[in-house]
Amino acid sequence: MDIKKERTLVVIKPDGVQRGLIGEVIRRYERSGLKLVATKMVIPTSDFVEKHYLVDPEWMTKTGNKTIESYRKKGKNPPSEDPIEVTKIVLENLKKYLVAGPVVAMVWQGVGAVGIIRKITGSTEPLTSDVGTIRGDFTIDSYELADSDGRAVRNILHASGTAEEAEKEISLWFSPEEIVDYRLINEAMIYDVDLNGIME
Ligand code: ADP
Ligand code: MG
Repeated sequence: MDIKKERTLVVIKPDGVQRGLIGEVIRRYERSGLKLVATKMVIPTSDFVEKHYLVDPEWMTKTGNKTIESYRKKGKNPPSEDPIEVTKIVLENLKKYLVAGPVVAMVWQGVGAVGIIRKITGSTEPLTSDVGTIRGDFTIDSYELADSDGRAVRNILHASGTAEEAEKEISLWFSPEEIVDYRLINEAMIYDVDLNGIME
């Protein structure tokens, strides 16, 4: 596997589309030097959303633990002590959230794509996402508010968590023909060993 061809899935969720952030999101990812290799607008079905989140068998445990830890850090009690119980509710709420309107799915490619996209996106809970990240800069939601109102955290984006998760998610969202293999001139400045051809 060519490390310059690592790929990751991003989905601009319905709140990102409705908040007018499609351009802003693409601008932030694009200027990093990563290459956009696929994109489309779709309205996912509830079954599809479930499939998407369950491609990673560990997702329920990881997401439940992350939620519980975040409550603890703030000195608060989580909705349940069992990570699977926490995530079961989250998944039901995610289904309602993601089918609410069009989403924009994209595949970004380049060295370290998964980690770079997560870094620009910010951590899951906007309340504690770093300033300068998309989630930290453009929204304010919290686990506590979302959980008490019985809905998913609205955090503008989905971005794959690991390279393995990314490959599984990409094959769920895109057929191979929808992913474009092309040369982007910018990449020469990032990857080429010799920077010949700049000077006249
Ligand atoms: P990420 O999207 O950062 O990878 P996860 O995969 O852990 O985060 O969770 C998927 C999505 O589920 C989150 O982006 C968020 O919209 C929602 N979510 C996660 N945990 C909670 C929670 N405790 N309460 C409400 N929504 C949640
Ligand atoms: Mg995730």
